[in-house]
Amino acid sequence: MAETIFSKIIRKEMPADIVYEDDRMLAFRDITPQAPTHILIIPKEEIATANDITPEHDELIGAMVRTAATIAEREGIAGDGYRLVINCNGHGGQAVHHLHLHLLGGRPMTWPPG
Ligand code: AMP
Repeated sequence: MAETIFSKIIRKEMPADIVYEDDRMLAFRDITPQAPTHILIIPKEEIATANDITPEHDELIGAMVRTAATIAEREGIAGDGYRLVINCNGHGGQAVHHLHLHLLGGRPMTWPPG
């Protein structure tokens, strides 16, 4: 897949407000937050879209979701609730083709999404 800006953030060639990092993933605040808390959890492995997730990624994706829940707790939004979103391709509104999990919270979310 073509490299994205997220690869530069992973390599620390591009600044980001990083809130969590381990050997498999990185989490940082979205540069254009859509809610009081808006954090992106990304795998260090370059996976372009949700369509590119394979069974080998099952543990990684599960760990990303658990990390999101841990960060939500740290951010103080776990009790009130939050939303986890993965946008995929054009109709899903995906702008950056490096898989990422949006953690959104700090205000009530509407449903259905626009
Ligand atoms: P998506 O539309 O699901 O692909 O979301 C991409 C997200 O990445 C958007 O919410 C952007 O605001 C965010 N984003 C793009 N560039 C950066 C950056 N350099 N640092 C933090 N967030 C970014």
